[in-house]
Amino acid sequence: MKHHFLKNDGSVLDKRTRQQMEYIRILSKMNKAMTIPEIAEAVQTSIPTATTIITDLLENNWILIQGKRETGPGRNPAIYSVNTEQFYAIGLIIGLKKAQLVIININQSEVYKKSISDFNLENTKGCLNQLVDFVSACIKEFEASISKVLGLGVGITGRVNVHTGETLNYFNFMEVPFKQYLEARLKIPVHVENDTRITGFTECEFGKGKGSDNIILINLDRGLGLSMVVNGKLLLGNSGFAGEFGHMKFGTKERLCICGKKGCLGTEVSGYALQLDFEEALSKGCQSLLLKEDQGEISFFDILEGANNGDLTSIDLIQAQGLKLGEALGSILNLLNPKDVIVGGSFVVVNDLLLDAIKVGLKKTCLPMVMKECRIMLSELSANMYCRGAASLVLKSHDLI
Ligand SMILES: [Zn+2]
Repeated sequence: MKHHFLKNDGSVLDKRTRQQMEYIRILSKMNKAMTIPEIAEAVQTSIPTATTIITDLLENNWILIQGKRETGPGRNPAIYSVNTEQFYAIGLIIGLKKAQLVIININQSEVYKKSISDFNLENTKGCLNQLVDFVSACIKEFEASISKVLGLGVGITGRVNVHTGETLNYFNFMEVPFKQYLEARLKIPVHVENDTRITGFTECEFGKGKGSDNIILINLDRGLGLSMVVNGKLLLGNSGFAGEFGHMKFGTKERLCICGKKGCLGTEVSGYALQLDFEEALSKGCQSLLLKEDQGEISFFDILEGANNGDLTSIDLIQAQGLKLGEALGSILNLLNPKDVIVGGSFVVVNDLLLDAIKVGLKKTCLPMVMKECRIMLSELSANMYCRGAASLVLKSHDLI
């Protein structure tokens, strides 16, 4: 693996390198140009020491002089910032139908993006090769030296053990974990995460969760996911499986879940559950505007759109799901007492129809003292931002943001 200045491969670093890393971290986290005395104060060192390290970093092009601090008459000191062209991170979100990649710099600004639109996630060697080739081609097209890439953050649907980098639902046929396989093929460090936890992290970095230390993020899409930020940290659990909200027994129907059990919330609150609800409603004689349209199979996206177009059956079904979600969520709120609950995923297109139903459901099960200061909101982030979040996870792992 090619060595990057900040890539910690576990080897013992000399004192000077450790100091340089510390300065880069301070400059990156402050996210502004600083004078030598300001840097010295931030890292708690003497000005001569700071001057030596800054000179080193400048010579190696890791930092740049941004100009001078206007302090009035007399000599104005130079201000320094990180050279953004030396530090890149890649984010990759692997969904069921789409794979999306972005490259960001150390300031978390997007500098490149690309996606595979005709993608189908399959647990096959062919699909794995397609993804590796895609990432390699993107890095090549971006034309940055691989040595400047700090790592790749991957968000993939299904269960993930973040500690080992194993993916349990996809690419589980190899002798080594998915993470290890990607590192060997791409020659860069890889962090693998569950896509829902990436959405939670992204919400904290770029969305409505910014500045909040206790958040619950619901991802209501084809499936139902949940991620939790507790006291400022993403809750992983012992093996990285914390947050399996969709497999908690809040359901009352007799639908068999993919986990083999019945009563799992995800079988009654999710996109695929909405499609089943719709079929059941029709079989009971309900009518729908969606049937009049000349189309094939009705997806949950169609039902969401139907609700926005005034289709009563669609509205009723979504409202019922929102109510059930709120009731189940009340128990989670009683357990964790979060400051914010943010609901993201495809269902946000129905806006207040969903949000109001969740709030009514919450009132039925959540303690008033827990609800009093808790804000229930819909996410405003786009799918593209989650990809940026996956890349930011790499910066976070290097303590740069
Ligand atoms: Zn289940």
